[in-house]
Amino acid sequence: MDFKQIVSHCKEYGFIFQSSEIYDGLAATYDYGPNGVELKNNIKQYWWKSMVQMHDNIVGLDAAILMHPKTWKASGHVDAFNDPLIDNKDSNKRYRADVLIEDYIAKIEAKNKKDVDKARKKFDDFDEKMFRETNGRIKERQAKIDAAAKRLADAMTTENMDDLKAQIEEYEIACPVSGSKTWTEVRQFNLMFSTQLGNIAGDEGKLYLRPETAQGIFVNFLNVQKSTRQKLPFGIAQIGKAFRNEIVARQFIFRMKEFEQMEMQFFIQPGTEMKWFEYWKEARMKWHQAIGSPAEKLKFHDHDNLAHYANAATDIEFEFPFGFKELEGIHSRTDFDLKSHEELSGKKLQYFDPEKNENYVPYVLETSIGCDRMFLSQISNSLVEETVPDADGKDSTRIVMKLHPAIAPVKCAILPLLKNKEELTKVAKQVFDKLKLSFNCQYDDKDAIGRRYRRQDAIGTPYCITIDFDTLEDQSVTVRDRDTLNQIRLNIDELHTFIYAKTDMSSLF
Ligand code: ATP
Repeated sequence: MDFKQIVSHCKEYGFIFQSSEIYDGLAATYDYGPNGVELKNNIKQYWWKSMVQMHDNIVGLDAAILMHPKTWKASGHVDAFNDPLIDNKDSNKRYRADVLIEDYIAKIEAKNKKDVDKARKKFDDFDEKMFRETNGRIKERQAKIDAAAKRLADAMTTENMDDLKAQIEEYEIACPVSGSKTWTEVRQFNLMFSTQLGNIAGDEGKLYLRPETAQGIFVNFLNVQKSTRQKLPFGIAQIGKAFRNEIVARQFIFRMKEFEQMEMQFFIQPGTEMKWFEYWKEARMKWHQAIGSPAEKLKFHDHDNLAHYANAATDIEFEFPFGFKELEGIHSRTDFDLKSHEELSGKKLQYFDPEKNENYVPYVLETSIGCDRMFLSQISNSLVEETVPDADGKDSTRIVMKLHPAIAPVKCAILPLLKNKEELTKVAKQVFDKLKLSFNCQYDDKDAIGRRYRRQDAIGTPYCITIDFDTLEDQSVTVRDRDTLNQIRLNIDELHTFIYAKTDMSSLF
């Protein structure tokens, strides 16, 4: 399904709504509806279980969103957490200069792809690599792409705002709204949201909404280590909101001003970081595949330009409907953060290594994933429109969300065959009351059974349980499988074991 269809499906079926929609919405902020919150909680639970509960050397934390302002000085966010912005003078619209250039590069790439697709249709034994290496037009465009990408990366690393502007002019990039090419200068814009303490005026009382959850972990490093008596290597994990004043449009929950991160900082001996970098790369890739994200939709993208705190970094990219984009970051953060906090706070943040009999500042390996991007990856990967036989054996189309059962918002729906037969609804309610103690279930007796099935398909419910007249005779019910459409008869007493075996998260580990 295309991106637009995914977005409207999310609204129609109560997954995601535009924030404050009745006031025309607030850009890049979204609310999770009744099905969305269940799916999101399940994703968080999958992460938490696999990262915290499955590791005896990783513990959890829930730090406050508001932190001492010096935190953000130490972390580098006050000085260096910027986006280069440019305004179009005619439309008064503001853009990220680097994104305008990236879009320009993407347009050239799209032309190449179009030519490749055309050629593929023409030749039976088509060799894409050879075609790209030999076709003159494609080679020319590829050279343009490479040069533009390098120049952009250089300008970003050296923070050369003048060159970003020069690139926009040279490439004759026009404002997508007005079509005009009259631009302001490019200037750095800090992405942190600030707020003010009630009792202190001026800069002294200026607070920031955290732009990442990681710093709450760093400042608590010793508190956690001492209270849990963990030895290196050990990790601290946290799920929580982060805020960034992003200037974007039309990326849905991929890029928001308020979003949720699931981060784990793994504290290690200096010198062992490359070993752990490789370890967590592999572990995190496996985690994505275990929940059903196909290997071909995932890839690593190593960073060429490292952030000021990192000595190795890679992204796990997912193929969203708008292309491969960052879903998770894995960063070797060295001792940058702990050392900066030591310097600015004057407090030691060191670990006493009993084996080496010495104190040192540990190195840190971070895994950081956006919960909302994970949500979007699961929705976009699982939502399909397909043709299936209906009750009369005729072809009909259905929209089905083939989520892994472990994260599906509703595990099973309990459906009495007919609404106004009290003997059926009574048993159905009894089944519902029993199963709801263990699973998120839905009771539904509205409309014909076929329509009820379709409603459950659309929200990804893996099993529909139908109570019919045979149930009254022999206590058996029909259990319909969302993906195969197979129906089996089970005894009511067998339902709990069946649903548990099929939907519990333990099957993922
Ligand atoms: P990007 O390059 O896409 O802006 P980033 O490199 O700044 O992302 P990190 O600072 O590494 O992102 O944050 C870790 C994770 O948090 C990202 O991999 C992403 O999943 C998520 N994330 C970051 N910014 C946003 C946002 N504005 N909205 C939703 N998720 C986000």
